[in-house]
Amino acid sequence: MYNPKKIEKKWQDRWEQEKIFEADSDAEKQKFFITSPYPYASGPLHIGHGRSFINGDVFARYFRAKGFNVLYPMAFHITGTPVLAISSSIERKDNTIIERMSQYVSLYTKDQEKVQEIVESFVDPWNVVNYFSETTKVDFKSMGMSFDWRREFTTGDKTYNKFIEWQFFHLKENGYIEKGEYPILYCPRDKNAVGEDDISRGDEIDLGITEFICIKFPFEGGFLVASTLRPETIYGVTNLWINPDGNYIQAIINDESWYISEEAALILTNQGKDVKIIKTFKGKEIVGRKAKDVYNIKEIPILPGDFVDTATATGVVYSVPAHAPYDYIALIDLVKNTKLIEKFNLDQIEIESIYPIQIIELEDLKDFPAKIYCNKYNVETQNDTQKLDQATKENYKDEFYSGVLNEKCLQYKGMKVDEAAKQVSKDLIKENRADKIYIPTTKDLFCRCGEEVIVSILKDQWFLNFQASDWKEKAFKCLNNMNITPSKYRRNFEKIFNWLEKRPCARKRGLGTQLPFNKEWIIESLSDSTIYMAFYTISHKIRQYNIGPEQLIPEFFDYVFLEKGEIKNLSEIINISEKVLKDLQEEFLYWYPVDHRHTAIMHISNHLSF
Ligand SMILES: [Zn+2]
Repeated sequence: MYNPKKIEKKWQDRWEQEKIFEADSDAEKQKFFITSPYPYASGPLHIGHGRSFINGDVFARYFRAKGFNVLYPMAFHITGTPVLAISSSIERKDNTIIERMSQYVSLYTKDQEKVQEIVESFVDPWNVVNYFSETTKVDFKSMGMSFDWRREFTTGDKTYNKFIEWQFFHLKENGYIEKGEYPILYCPRDKNAVGEDDISRGDEIDLGITEFICIKFPFEGGFLVASTLRPETIYGVTNLWINPDGNYIQAIINDESWYISEEAALILTNQGKDVKIIKTFKGKEIVGRKAKDVYNIKEIPILPGDFVDTATATGVVYSVPAHAPYDYIALIDLVKNTKLIEKFNLDQIEIESIYPIQIIELEDLKDFPAKIYCNKYNVETQNDTQKLDQATKENYKDEFYSGVLNEKCLQYKGMKVDEAAKQVSKDLIKENRADKIYIPTTKDLFCRCGEEVIVSILKDQWFLNFQASDWKEKAFKCLNNMNITPSKYRRNFEKIFNWLEKRPCARKRGLGTQLPFNKEWIIESLSDSTIYMAFYTISHKIRQYNIGPEQLIPEFFDYVFLEKGEIKNLSEIINISEKVLKDLQEEFLYWYPVDHRHTAIMHISNHLSF
């Protein structure tokens, strides 16, 4: 009878003994270089790994059968904070993590005492890495993967660090790396920037940062600061909304008195503002009072809106009922709600006389857009959130594509909406009538350590500037030389390339490679995993020739990978014979470039494009 456990083991052992997957360069044979992304060594493999690696393996075996000299290598990614987070959780005796790790280890060891011992050893991050890379290797072998294991490495190996240092040395030299002010997702507990590897479900959700413009409405000697994504609408403001039950503060912020939510004060502290809180108050205390419009001319009433989220931006919003369905319907609801008007001692007649101010013209619309779209979707109250979301979306889309600002917007008259939004915010900030606040695009974002993720502004952040000189042009050129299967995903690459602007490439904490020109920084986990396929071609020879990290200076990689430099000179400087240097270069030139890469779609927006 067919017994897979027995027969698979038999042949897997035989493959290993005969070293049939160990591929050496051979000028007589046509090469074929296949890679799949190296897995993260912080836990066992998941089914998605199985898919990508088996895809690669099927092709590796197919091309071998066709007579090609096939190289299919594998390594382990360990960079960043996930492994450190496991170690510090074990140290803190965090039960969730201890349990999860015990479950993982129990997959390989039945002896519970042994399991406990192994999990306790995870307090040292290198034990996590060594344990999971070893178990993963065993799993790969039992899946029958045809990897050349001689080339294995981790991204924490000292020789690999030298390779990444070389990469960053060149990125800097070519002007692709810059230092400056940059909003980043940040964990206040770890005091560190966090990326998708550090955030719970980080690879599934939008990790964008939303920039709100904070408009300063003059109010009682200071400013009631309302935030918006549509600064071009300030000429249509009729009132301000505040959450009557929300917690607000008055604070001195960079020498001005600001009225904002308590949460906003904390956010701004992390975004480089000097915040001194003077007093705290409930929103209801200022309901019914009046602020002035941004140019300090017209009075604007402050009205109660329990829909205002104090955790979003400044926790104060302004109302543009002609162009925002939510504002329009909230105003109608308020007019009808005589109890609420009485409760806050508001003037019924005054509220009834608030009339939407249309500032954006759309062809063919007989009335102002918010009313049209509320009617279209049968919105009756502000509780019809689903309908309201639809109405808002369509209203905005319409205005964005075909709206033009009218004469009420003074010098912005005739501008299209997107152009006006940029110009108005630029001018208001210049005139000190506005500022910026950043929040994570996705709500309830949590670091793996359990803390809520916020946005911080780092003053001296190192980042990759994808817009620098001809970088994008080069990337598109490269993409055009690739076949993408299925071909429809080419569009995703193009979209990501166009979207990329700046991206932080280093952190203050984590495993990995130090930035060669600023050693307090560690290169983060997406930035050190873009060209590692080149390293596979020589990693086993570096070991074989006993080459130490101190010998792997940038000129070494220049010679091997770029065919640059003078071999005699180099050989003397780093004490590696010319013969060995030539051998390494030939190995690279033989295998490179990569012929096939097998991976998952979700990596298009990170590893594959960055
Ligand atoms: Zn954290």
